[in-house]
Amino acid sequence: MDRLIYLDYAATTPMRPEVLEAMMPYFTEDFGNPSSLYTLGRQARGAVEDARDRVAAFMGADPREVVFTSGGTESDNMAIKGVAFANEKKGNHIITTPIEHHAVLEPCHFLAKRGYEITYLPVDEHGMVDPADVEKAITDKTVLVSIMHANNEVGTIEPLEEISKITRARGVYLHTDAVQTFGHIPTNVNELGVDLLSVSAHKLYGPKGVGALYVRKGTRMVPTAHGGSQENNRRAGTHNVAGIVGLAKAVEIAEREMASEAKRLTELRDRLLHGMVDKIPNARPTGHPTKRLPNNASACLVGAEGEAMLLSLDMEGVSSSSGSACTSGTLEPSHVLLAMGIPAEIAHSSLRLTLGDKTTKEDIDYVLEILPPIIERLRAMSPLDEAWKGKQ
Ligand SMILES: *Cc1c(COP(=O)(O)O)cnc(C)c1O
Repeated sequence: MDRLIYLDYAATTPMRPEVLEAMMPYFTEDFGNPSSLYTLGRQARGAVEDARDRVAAFMGADPREVVFTSGGTESDNMAIKGVAFANEKKGNHIITTPIEHHAVLEPCHFLAKRGYEITYLPVDEHGMVDPADVEKAITDKTVLVSIMHANNEVGTIEPLEEISKITRARGVYLHTDAVQTFGHIPTNVNELGVDLLSVSAHKLYGPKGVGALYVRKGTRMVPTAHGGSQENNRRAGTHNVAGIVGLAKAVEIAEREMASEAKRLTELRDRLLHGMVDKIPNARPTGHPTKRLPNNASACLVGAEGEAMLLSLDMEGVSSSSGSACTSGTLEPSHVLLAMGIPAEIAHSSLRLTLGDKTTKEDIDYVLEILPPIIERLRAMSPLDEAWKGKQ
């Protein structure tokens, strides 16, 4: 393919060359185990602790509050199961939202099968949680509230500052999945007021398979993997030294570029969203109009089918995402869009374009040129279009 326009940065990001360069020595000459006492081990330990200092400083935490993990999924599992199991004496009630990533929803389903009570808060048509609903849902059995910082499909940023005032007053832990925000918008744990915060390196130009969980001092949490005494007995297993160094390097780059990049991407995002609304009849942006991730442009292009759009765009060299996932032969519309009250036949037409460091104005204009005829063609052949016309 002569042209590749990658617009799926919410799924993963390419590693920065500087990140790879920083990681390289830890695969070969600096291969020591950080738990070993001799020089080679101590050097690896030093690299891990320097990385911890940097990651902690970036989120306004103490280094001892940062636990390195294998990524966002493990961090979410550790937060939810680790807090639930450690606080069994207090209660068995967890509050979350229906728009979370599967890495939060599935541990909650797992716990529900074992007798835990899970409350799923409603969200409005923009995917926004109302803090008043958090207040209403808390009981004396509530041990954890888990609400994502920003949604990975529609980009809506949740009002964690207000929610944390409530959880603090009620003495309930607050966890947030910040995988889509860490390194992209400010994620200071004290400003947000959270007790646990999940991070994944590959969503901020770092390597796959490494992440972190912030755990506020004093939080009662048990490990989910048992073995060695690494990470202060909170997460067993030999450190992924190169990965951890890569995460810290990605954080160093974010420190430098986050503010200017957020501004640049917000402009490109709005150019794309406005262009879609202008050029495609009945294009309906999804997510909050302003409280959204700088890089997220998502919309329902009513009448065109999501996976067909994705494949047509791919043929033109554009990588995109559709909320629908083809599971077991049935096309399930996105759980996020359904929870926002979007009817299934409209949710099937969702397209998510997420921008990143290599995205240019020319890329956006190219997409705005090729997308309208694709949608026109798909609408002409889609049964969804008939369903939609019937509704007008
Ligand atoms: C990508 C993602 C995850 C999973 O992170 P991994 O490091 O891929 O396991 C969790 N939550 C959200 C919101 C994500 O976007």
